[in-house]
This record gives sequence, C-alpha cells and structure tokens, in this order.
Amino acid sequence: MLVVMGRHAGQKEIDEVVEKITSIGLRPHVIPGSTRTAIGITGNTGPIDPGILEIMPGVHEVIRVTRPYKLVSREVKQEDTRIEVGGVTFGGSGFVVIAGPCAVETETQTLETAKKVKSAGATLFRGGAFKPRTSPYSFQGLGEEGLKILAKVRREYGLPVVTEAIDVESVSLVEEYADVIQVGARNMQNFSLLKRVGRAQRAVLLKRGMSATVEELLMSAEYILSEGNYQVILCERGVRTFADHTRNTLDLSAIPAVKRLSHLPIIVDPSHGTGRRDKVPPMAMAGMAVGADGLMIEVHIDPDRALSDGPQSLYPQDFDRLMQRLRHLAMALDRSITE
Ligand code: PEP
Ligand code: MN
Repeated sequence: MLVVMGRHAGQKEIDEVVEKITSIGLRPHVIPGSTRTAIGITGNTGPIDPGILEIMPGVHEVIRVTRPYKLVSREVKQEDTRIEVGGVTFGGSGFVVIAGPCAVETETQTLETAKKVKSAGATLFRGGAFKPRTSPYSFQGLGEEGLKILAKVRREYGLPVVTEAIDVESVSLVEEYADVIQVGARNMQNFSLLKRVGRAQRAVLLKRGMSATVEELLMSAEYILSEGNYQVILCERGVRTFADHTRNTLDLSAIPAVKRLSHLPIIVDPSHGTGRRDKVPPMAMAGMAVGADGLMIEVHIDPDRALSDGPQSLYPQDFDRLMQRLRHLAMALDRSITE
C-alpha cells in the first residue's frame, strides 16, 4: 500500500499519516519526491483498509502496490534514486567506475593497485577482505587486517571503499571500515544478511545471484529497504548458462529491465560477468551503452600472481586504456564519467 500525499501537504500532515501507520502496527517509509511525498507501508500480512488513511488531511490517494516488491518499485517512486558515497553519486547523470583487486592480499599490492586505478580515473576502490570462495582451500581473505589496508587506501588516496560482508557476523566489522557493503552473488538470497545490512548505516552494493531473475534481485533489495536502508545499488554480474566461452553470461538486458521496474541505480561488473580479461573492456563499454549507472572492474597490479580471479583482472595499463575509451563513449552518449 502506498499513501500519496497532495502537492501542498505539509510536514504536519505527513507526520500524522506516519503516526497513524505506526499506531496500527505497520511500518511507514517516507519517500520524498520532487512534486509530492509518498509514504510506503510495509509489515502488513493481509490487506489494509485504505479508508482510514484516505480520509486524513493532506492525503491525495491511497493505492495498492501490485508487485511483490514495493519500496524498490517505480510505482512507489518515479524519480531515479541517487546515492551519495563519499562525494560520489550513483544514479543521475554521472557514470561511476569502481576498480580494484578481487581480494586484498598485501598492503603493497593493494596500495599500488589503488594508485594506478586512481590515476586512471576510478572514483571508488574495491577489494575483498572476506572472500566467498568455492573451495575451502582457496585464499579466504585477510579479514580485519584487509579492512585496515582498505582504510589506508581511503586515507592515502581519498577513494571510498567497497568491500564484501559474507555473513551476518562480519557486517559490524565491515561497517566500521567500508563506505559501501557488498553483498555477493552467492548471498543474494541470504535473507538474514539482507536484513542485517538493511539496518546498517552504509550503502549496500547488492549483486545479482548467479541464477536469479530480475524480480528475485528486486525482492532481495526490498528486504534491505524494508529494514530502513534505502541506499542500495544493484549490480549485474552475469548468470550461469550453457555458454562456455565465458565464466558467466553477462545479462546486459537486465539493465533496461531494472530501470523500468525500479528507481534504484544499477551498475555492471564485466569482470565476473565474463571471467576473461580480454572480454572485460568490450562488455564494460556495452554496460555504459545500455544505460548502467557505473561499472565495477577488477584490476590487479600483477594479475598473473593474483590469489583470486587473476584471469579476469585487468593489468593497470589495460584499465587506463579502457577508461580513455569510456570517456570517448560517454561523450557520444551524452553522459559523463564521474571524476
Ligand atoms: C567479487 O566481487 O569479488 C565477487 C566474489 O563477486 P560475485 O559475488 O559476483 O561472485
Ligand atoms: Mn572476484
């Protein structure tokens, strides 16, 4: 259910509706818009009688939301959501490039990679300190030591950092050090983790599960918003298909599909989406062309010695070249890369 306030409704009327919703045991979500305010309602297990809200002062209309997700949908909020992370805005006219290694391995590897990606034009840094590895014998990440190295990257290079929380227990630690908490593909439907990051004070980067539909991705985002955290950036990172020329099939058609259904920003990860270095630049450019709000790209100072995802990691000079090509493409598309 969604309460749409009239154009001239004031704060007092909005507060009264919020109070009413709370008093009947439900949760209000105030969604300010450029011309009107809407108030989403969650927490109901059955239908709500719209009459009790319709008669309140300042209320324009009360509408039922027909989709299984509400707060993430365009029905509830027409304007694109903008999410600001350390001075960088996701959603809107800019195009944000996040880059860095798959995993934080050593301080030198991380800082050197950060220096290179920053000079090439990346505005956020990525790197996993907790790694969700398919084999228990693969490198699992440095844990808190890795988070400290990421904090050093932010201090020395002024780059906000994105890093993954792999379970509920790691969220508090990640929250302390990171600017954006990543929820990985394998955890897209870890509902207790989604609820926990929904109560975090940080933006969340939610990656699409490797066999999830767009609707399932949006429902996972809904878990986070319904807990009160509206700062969710979605990420298309490829789904598993029969194709064996790539690690995953990067589903770029998900971008316009999500844009139609949701107001949340969505970025493309062509690194996990292809798994092969040579395919990353063309798919990165395609991601910009289909209207994504940004990219996340794995770059390693020495990919041949990387402890994870070396074959898909770009050499710093490849990344630099890609950034130059993206700038040209942005011009043709009337967009601009956030510098
Ligand atoms: C990653 O970003 O390094 C990662 C593990 O990605 P995904 O969850 O998409 O596999
Ligand atoms: Mn990786």
